[in-house]
Amino acid sequence: MEKEKERANRIHILVVPLPVQGHINPMLQFSKRLAAKGLRVTLVTISSNTEAIETQLCKVKIEPIHATSEEEEEAGNNVENKVLWFQTILSRRLPQLILKQENDGYPIICLVYDSAMPWVLDTAKGLGIFGASFFTHSCAVGAVYYNVHEGLLRVPLKEPTISLPGLPLLEPQDLPSFIYDPGSYPSFLNLVVSRFSNISGADWIFFNTFHELEKEVVNWMRTRWPIMTIGPTLPSMYLDKRLEDDKDYGFSIFNSNTEACKKWLESKETGTVVYVSFGSMANLGEKQMEEIALGLKRSNANFLWVVRESETHKLPSNFEEQTSEKGLVVNWCPQLEVLGHRALGCFMTHCGWNSTLEALSSGVPMVAMPQWTDQTTNAKFVEDEWKVGVRVKVDQMGIVTKEEIERCIAEVIEGERGKEIKRNLMRWRELAKEAMDEGGSSDKNIEEFIATLSCK
Ligand code: UDP
Repeated sequence: MEKEKERANRIHILVVPLPVQGHINPMLQFSKRLAAKGLRVTLVTISSNTEAIETQLCKVKIEPIHATSEEEEEAGNNVENKVLWFQTILSRRLPQLILKQENDGYPIICLVYDSAMPWVLDTAKGLGIFGASFFTHSCAVGAVYYNVHEGLLRVPLKEPTISLPGLPLLEPQDLPSFIYDPGSYPSFLNLVVSRFSNISGADWIFFNTFHELEKEVVNWMRTRWPIMTIGPTLPSMYLDKRLEDDKDYGFSIFNSNTEACKKWLESKETGTVVYVSFGSMANLGEKQMEEIALGLKRSNANFLWVVRESETHKLPSNFEEQTSEKGLVVNWCPQLEVLGHRALGCFMTHCGWNSTLEALSSGVPMVAMPQWTDQTTNAKFVEDEWKVGVRVKVDQMGIVTKEEIERCIAEVIEGERGKEIKRNLMRWRELAKEAMDEGGSSDKNIEEFIATLSCK
């Protein structure tokens, strides 16, 4: 206890995620783990994201950055512009914010920054403090981007198959979308690759994964840098159950229809529901939305479908009325609670990295329907490496048809393949929990980080 108090007084960490749900969640969870081990931890976000949340979450202090009204006006409305906008605001405020902590008597000794913002490391070094890069995607995806950065994998791709150390043989569509379709988001391609520009200067490199899940590629990456696996970053009560207060992420940018979801799930039989969600950012075309709607209508399963408010206009007219017997459409849900519900049969997912880890750790079979960025690579691993789901096939027009959706759901919920998937999931679920348990591979890395910091 005394040792913990001593640490808390001496070590103050500032955690800096990109302010999007899929990056805040894992970095906040990592913060909670550090705080539970006695460190003082502050997480930075922009003010509009904090309106609905506490200023303190499981001992983690939330520090909002307030954008001025002129700055608010500068924010673009597409995702690429928003990410750049936040970085501009952050780069203006970060030095001040660090100074403020020092003036308050709690100087920052280490910045844990989103690997998507490598320039934060330069700020840290300029102020004489440590810098730790945090990767919110898988180690496999990191290895692909690293190979592109080093010129070992050339974009645009020329070969029909891609062989990289530590990874299975990949086809172009198994690589992240920015690599097989480099013209789609040129600024993001630059963003994901440039995270390696100064990586050798980082004092620590964290990946939200666990060693057992990505053994080969983690071992290969370790021949380059001493990377540390610290995941899966689900709330503790879904894994090791050591942090009693840590029951959910606690920080949602979207308003959740929690009660409606719970009540509806309670009314359904065990294992009969397909939960459908494409995360916080993906935008599906109208035709694709229609095929999903028709596929869900045809399927034997009940469905709970998250359609964000900005996407609802793409639903076929009267769809909700026509399917009210078997389906519920909501704008956002408490995903972890949903995945843990006995009524769940499978998760039709875009394979965002958090969703993938959450399904795997909750033992829920997946129908993988990747949209962009790293989701394609995650889907490849879900189907072929970890064997915890099936990946939908896309037709010549780039659409996943209603028949294909119906087929995949049936295969996972009712078919022989589903039984094998459930057996595999039992093992992964156990390994995920063990990694975060006391003395597990990820817990050991977190302890080692703290021990090294304590000696500095
Ligand atoms: N999520 C949620 N409710 C929803 C949909 C998603 O709480 O209705 C959470 C989900 O549990 C995950 C995060 O939002 O932690 C989404 O991250 P992910 O990496 O899966 O996808 P992204 O949104 O970054 O594409």
